[in-house]
This record gives sequence, C-alpha cells and structure tokens, in this order.
Amino acid sequence: MTLTEKDSQYLWHPYTQHKTSQTPIAISRGEGALLWDENNKEYIDAIASWWVNPFGHSNKFIADAIYKQLTTLEHVLFGGFTHEPAIKVAEKLIEILPKNQQKIFFSDNGSTAVEVAIKVALQYFFNKNEKRTTIIAFENAFHGDTFAAMAASGISFYTQAFQGMFIDVVRIPVPVKGQEEESFEALKNVIKTHNCAGFIFEPLVQGAAGMVMYEADALAKLIQICKENKVLTIADEVMTGFGKTGKTFAMDYVSEDPDMICLSKALTGGTIPMAITTFTQEVFDAFYDDDINKALFHGHTFTANPTGCAAALASIDLLQTDEMQANIERINKSHLEFQQKIENHSKVITARTLGVIFAVEIKSDAEESYYGSMRTKLYNFFIDKGVILRPVGNIAYILPPYIMTDEQLQKVYKTIEEAIEMV
Ligand SMILES: *Cc1c(COP(=O)(O)O)cnc(C)c1O
Repeated sequence: MTLTEKDSQYLWHPYTQHKTSQTPIAISRGEGALLWDENNKEYIDAIASWWVNPFGHSNKFIADAIYKQLTTLEHVLFGGFTHEPAIKVAEKLIEILPKNQQKIFFSDNGSTAVEVAIKVALQYFFNKNEKRTTIIAFENAFHGDTFAAMAASGISFYTQAFQGMFIDVVRIPVPVKGQEEESFEALKNVIKTHNCAGFIFEPLVQGAAGMVMYEADALAKLIQICKENKVLTIADEVMTGFGKTGKTFAMDYVSEDPDMICLSKALTGGTIPMAITTFTQEVFDAFYDDDINKALFHGHTFTANPTGCAAALASIDLLQTDEMQANIERINKSHLEFQQKIENHSKVITARTLGVIFAVEIKSDAEESYYGSMRTKLYNFFIDKGVILRPVGNIAYILPPYIMTDEQLQKVYKTIEEAIEMV
C-alpha cells in the first residue's frame, strides 16, 4: 500500500469531508521553501504550511537547538517548577513585544492561546466582582477551534453545529476602508448595551477570512474606545506575529497597546507546537491575591515544554538577523510589484499586500463560498503546477517562508496569473 492508501484507512484529517475530498498528498521531505511527495514530485510551499514556517523546512539552526535541548532537558512539568529555556523566551519576548506586556503564559496552540486570553478577560472582572460577560469580536474573524475561540470566530459554517452553546459574543464590522465609522459606532453601541469584558481582534489582517486588511489608525481608535470603557483588548497575533506584516508584530504599527497578545504559529519556526498569551502587569495583578480562588486555574500538561522553548529562542534569533529582515523587505517589494502588475487585470477585483502577505480577489460569476467550486478549481490547478496555495473562496493569497528565493516567488506569481486566466 502507498502512504496515501494507508492514510485513508486510518486517518481523519482537519477541515475535510472524507467522502467527497481528494486523497491527501503524502509529503516525505522538505528543505527551504520546497516539499517533495512520496513520488518525488516537488512543491513550493507558498503558504508556509499554514503560516507556521518562516525560515524554511528542516532548518538546521533550529534543529540543532532542539537536539541540544532534547539531550539536556526534554521536558519537566511547569507546575511548581521552572527552567532556563522558558525564562529566556519570556525575557526575549518582553524585550520585543509592545512595552506594556509584562507576563507570559504558555500553552500549546493558537486556539488555546485565545482560550486563555478570553478566560482571563472574563475572570479579571469576576475577580473584581464586576459583572462583565460579553466578548466583542470582528465579523468573519478566526480565532481557533476550541469552544471560546470558536465562539469568537465568525465563520459560520465552521461553527453552526454548536450555535446556542457559546459564551456571549457580539460582533462588529471590521474597519476596512470606508467602513471605519460604522465599526467605531458599532463598538460604542455594543459597549453601551452590554456588559463587555473584552474585545478580541486579529490586528491589521484577518487571515482565515482571506487576508482582509484594515488600517492601524482604525484599530488604535477601537482600542481607545475600549480603554475609555475599561474593556480589555486582546490582539490575536497568532497569524500576524513574528514578521509577517513587515514588523515583528502587527501591533508595532498601532499607536495603542493591547492588554493581551496571543502568539503561536511561527513562534517555533514551524517545528514544535507551542503558544503564548502575554499580559500587562495590571491584568496579572487582578489574579494576584491571598485568595487562592482568584488564581488562573488553567494549564496544559506540556506547558512551557523546554524543547519548544529552545525552538522558539532559535526562531527569534533567526528572525532578528539582518539577513532575515532583508528577506522580509525583499518579498514585500516583490509582492508590491506583482500587485501593480495584476490589480488592473479584468478578472481581478482587488489585490493587497502587507509585509510578506499578498492576496488577490478574483472575479467570479457565482457568489463564491469558502469551499466553493472556484476554490476547488484554483486549488487543484495550483497543486497540479507544484505550488501549494489554499485559496479562500475566490481569494488566492501568498504567505511564503521568508527564505523563499526570487525565482520561486516568480514561479508562484506566474502560476497565480495562469490560474486567473484559467477560471
Ligand atoms: C490559526 C489561528 C488560530 C488558531 O491556531 P491553532 O494553532 O490552529 O489552534 C487562532 N487565531 C488566528 C488569528 C489564527 O490564524
């Protein structure tokens, strides 16, 4: 049996209707921006394997750091114990995060990072004996697949089986160009009519919605409104963190700092699942008390796994090299040129770029759904050409590893141009 045949016998894949979907491609190795399948077909990984891998597959620098940690201290429980790798990650993050972030809480993935932030927002007010139970979120947000993260997410077909079982979430429009005032007014109105604990948002770019972008000033204004009303703000930087937007964090563009930040995806350079939620001292202090009941009773078995921490430290080191920063700039310039080239194409609705993120909306006759027919046609075309891109409906986006070469980038652009002609 091939790997693919064995897979269909035993495995259940994410976001997959096994009856109607194609069989998965078995990948046997990766190097840099490239992957090879079991038949040795080569693919360019133009979405960094779901946005986790900025420094390339099988990165030797991170692998060495992991090996060294594995043979020193692979894991120790974090309840009642601590270790140098966790402390170093915390020190490093506090140095590079927005200045008001002072406390670091570890978990395992983006959803748990969000889950922790939402629980903290709710318990913060519980600890202060204030009844505030509503969470504000953007329309079409994506914050993950655990329950609170799902509740805060707006992509309805993901969550329709669970409607009515969620925490209280009220959605406001995203302040995309021309819709800013509507968004501000909606936020003010929600705050007036509900007991709001927190506002969670993907700063500047809504990834899963199809790389929907909005301005830093609009976000600053929304955060200001929250601050005036003592609503805690949560920046979900799970996708945007670690250089994707051209700065280390998307919040580096925004003049107002959030109360909490969620990190995962590129945190360990795409090697080991790990996540972090960060907090201001003020948030932490609402849990700091002689009363044990005011503590945050949340944890995961592999919290602050030393091996993951070593991978994170190596990744942040790589991100901070001049070479990697130059790569990010190079890709951004290249994207802007490609954007100029195709944005006036008759089949293109709009194209947009921020940092290494590029997205193009393609004209479609039918109302295009997330997994609609154009999406399938595009996806299959890209795979056939050896380029891994996962369009969202009629939106094709690129989020490449920063080490992708110009030649590989040009191939990705060319494939997208061909796809636009084809559909
Ligand atoms: C991917 C993502 C998550 C969820 O992360 P998982 O590791 O898949 O649980 C949460 N928020 C944002 C913005 C994401 O892009």
